Amino acid sequence: MTEAATLVSYDEALIRYEPVIGLETHVELGTVTKMFCGCPTVFGAQPNSAVCPVCLGLPGSLPVASRAAIEYTIRIGLALNCSIATWCRFARKNYFYPDMPKDFQISQYDEPLCTDGWLDIAVEDQRFRIGIERVHLEEDTGKSLHVGGATGRIHGADHSLVDYNRAGIPLVEVVTKPVPGTGALAPEVARAYVTELRELLRALGVSDVRMEEGSLRCDVNTSIAPAGSDRWGTRTETKNVNSLRSVERAVRFEIQRQAAVLDTGGKIVQETRHFQEAAGTTTAGRSKEEAQDYRYFPEPDLVPVAPSRDWVEELRAALPELPAARRARLQADWGLSDLDMTQLSNADALELVEQTVAAGACAADARKWWLGELARRANETGTELAALPVTPTQVARVTELVTAGTLNDKLARQVLELIVAGEGEPDEIVAARGLAVVSDDGALTAAVDAAIAGHPEIAAKIREGKTAAAGALVGAVMRATRGQADATRARELILQRLN
Ligand SMILES: [Zn+2]
Repeated sequence: MTEAATLVSYDEALIRYEPVIGLETHVELGTVTKMFCGCPTVFGAQPNSAVCPVCLGLPGSLPVASRAAIEYTIRIGLALNCSIATWCRFARKNYFYPDMPKDFQISQYDEPLCTDGWLDIAVEDQRFRIGIERVHLEEDTGKSLHVGGATGRIHGADHSLVDYNRAGIPLVEVVTKPVPGTGALAPEVARAYVTELRELLRALGVSDVRMEEGSLRCDVNTSIAPAGSDRWGTRTETKNVNSLRSVERAVRFEIQRQAAVLDTGGKIVQETRHFQEAAGTTTAGRSKEEAQDYRYFPEPDLVPVAPSRDWVEELRAALPELPAARRARLQADWGLSDLDMTQLSNADALELVEQTVAAGACAADARKWWLGELARRANETGTELAALPVTPTQVARVTELVTAGTLNDKLARQVLELIVAGEGEPDEIVAARGLAVVSDDGALTAAVDAAIAGHPEIAAKIREGKTAAAGALVGAVMRATRGQADATRARELILQRLN
């Protein structure tokens, strides 16, 4: 069954409906060993080489919970202002799928390790407190690879391969409470939350948080209800959204799609949906009626987890500087405004700017290039800022060349574009492409003389003392040199000539 592709424009949808969002984020922990056995968690190893009887679920093998994974989870919970359970159990989640060799996954169900916290975020000049429902620990599944079909799915595949290296890798799931009251900012709030959470996890050193490699992935819940209604709408859950930009797009699309369904008298079906990266749309997956009953029960092979209060307090005392505190410190050092800082962190550019400043740039310049030219570039090509093929050191060098007068802003933009295009280091590009500002009088004089000869009426005004008219001649010089002239020097030469 195909769905109607009609959408309501975003602005219109927000006049009639109020969105509520929620996010479930899965984080692969960077522990040395798996969750319940001693197998290594290396990425990209030979398929089925990092396995043992426990993570293969062979009869008679017994799991032992990783202390490191529990410690990481408690640290995440503390950083998110959660309460840490004094006693909790793992649960067995039963389902049958080839990538889950023991036919169940060990997870946490009604007794999560961390509950009831919050994370503050800012979008534009508004602050939002995102409630955290729970943070729990579970194990990842293996990976199936369906070969020979056009879609990479099992339907139409010639045969399937399975790799159990990932089966048993510790995963933390961070679940928010429903977030109402965001209005039209819902997509940006969703993105800002994931950005902030990712920074927090990175600061804690518990995961490499690479969305593109799947070590951080999001399920995005979206519902809408008629404006002023005292009830929330039926929510959909968009699975495995794997970039910050996609988080924002998935929420925006769902709001527009659901508004179209409600506008035409339809009902929203509670279902999982899949985000289609290329189209920016979501498509229907399983509905609630088809959802499986996992028959959770307390995992009988594991002892309960009962972290001592002393240990929890030790972990709390040892938390590193968290992103909000770090931002406050950097803001003071850099002298940037609140809005500048919000923009930097929501564009995921804080780290990049910090490294650019460390490489010799001033903060205002670093901010300007990362949020200007480079953000535009990233947006055009649909990539994350940090994934652009340009380094903070290169950006710092470009700002130095501007400060030294070798480049003006226009030339600096071209140099950055060529770095991104893979043409090499800033100095090489300036030399190879002849992009430096022309300020030596010999080369400028010819262009100045041509500009004067080409605009006798302007030249006459300047001779009469109306020096403000010189701007028009400077413009002509800049055009003739395709932006490479040193504008200050050109103006000096024009005034000298016409004095
Ligand atoms: Zn193992």
